[in-house]
Amino acid sequence: MLRMPRFALESPETLDDAVALAARGARLVAGGTDLLPNLKHHLERPERLVSLHRLAALRAIALDGDTLRVGCGATLTEIAADPRVRADFPSLAEAAGAVAGPQIRNRATLGGNLHLDTRCRYVNQTELWRSAIGGCLKSEGTVCHVVPKGQNCVAALSSDTVPVLIALDATLVLAGPSGRREVELAKYFTADGLAHTLRQPGEIATEVRVPRPRGPRACAYVKWRPRASIDFPLVSVALRFDLDDERRVTLARVVAGVLGSKPREVEVPATVAGKRLGEVAALVADAAYAKCKPLANVPYDPAYRRHLVRVLTRRAIERLATEPAPGGP
Ligand SMILES: Cc1cc2nc3c(=O)[nH]c(=O)nc-3n(C[C@H](O)[C@H](O)[C@H](O)COP(=O)(O)OP(=O)(O)OC[C@H]3O[C@@H](n4cnc5c(N)ncnc54)[C@H](O)[C@@H]3O)c2cc1C
Ligand code: SF4
Repeated sequence: MLRMPRFALESPETLDDAVALAARGARLVAGGTDLLPNLKHHLERPERLVSLHRLAALRAIALDGDTLRVGCGATLTEIAADPRVRADFPSLAEAAGAVAGPQIRNRATLGGNLHLDTRCRYVNQTELWRSAIGGCLKSEGTVCHVVPKGQNCVAALSSDTVPVLIALDATLVLAGPSGRREVELAKYFTADGLAHTLRQPGEIATEVRVPRPRGPRACAYVKWRPRASIDFPLVSVALRFDLDDERRVTLARVVAGVLGSKPREVEVPATVAGKRLGEVAALVADAAYAKCKPLANVPYDPAYRRHLVRVLTRRAIERLATEPAPGGP
């Protein structure tokens, strides 16, 4: 049985109190669906947790002019069901609704999903299992088993919402001891699996801001996992196509997840511009295949996962080609 280690728990009612506790080294916990299993696996041993559960202001979802504002305390169930999200940001609703299973989504928050720890088949194991291979850079050892001569941890960013939010040009608002700041989500993640965000000590993510589409847009989220009822993604791709009134592509964004510790933006050939979605499906899928080279950091054969990137991307675009685009006529 995996036992929860001892820790002190604080539940402040104001953001300022939560920031003050975090600045003194307390570990943030929201839904706990990522952090608590990691504590049970002894991947870290914080002495004090600060719960964000009582910060009601962090739970709001609002459409403010041309910006969707989603509080980092909103649950994934709330985001997936929100009519404004479903109408104008369907790929976000799709990604939030594809995380784990319903019980977890009822507790899991957006802030936790953006900050869930990187994952690897060699580290998300019991302490006993890890000790049998001498640990690794992310646990109790000094080597990486995925890239044996590498100096860095390449554990995977397995968040479902991050690639989608990057494709939608989202920004993240953080409150910390030195005040508030807003950062582009596309610039927030780093290629270091040990510390893969630019969050500063004491900072709490309060809100995600997503600009509303200015015209017709087709977007989708592709996720492959062995068990559709619960599993983390083993490959993922967020797709966004801005369209003109005749449904010809004016802008294409493709962001892949689970490859390493930060999402990868796939450069799409300029020739997609002016074409209809059905005409670009194979082109974009081939570009995604060329740029996405999965590692053996998560289960399943990397070559098979790479093949799925191409197949699932093409199918998703072919599906989008037959559907009405939100924001359009
Ligand atoms: C069986 C199982 C299946 C899962 N499947 C998936 C999946 O398919 N896709 C997926 O994306 N995830 C999956 N998860 C992971 C997890 O459930 C989700 O990522 C969830 O969204 C985490 O949110 P939380 O509120 O529970 O985070 P917590 O566990 O509370 O926190 C996670 C991390 O985020 C930090 N954090 C939380 N809130 C904030 C904030 N406001 N500001 C700054 N840092 C913050 C915490 O300090 C912690 O480091 C799964 C988990 C389990 C147990
Ligand atoms: S990528 Fe390497 S260092 Fe990182 S968790 Fe996996 S085995 Fe450990």
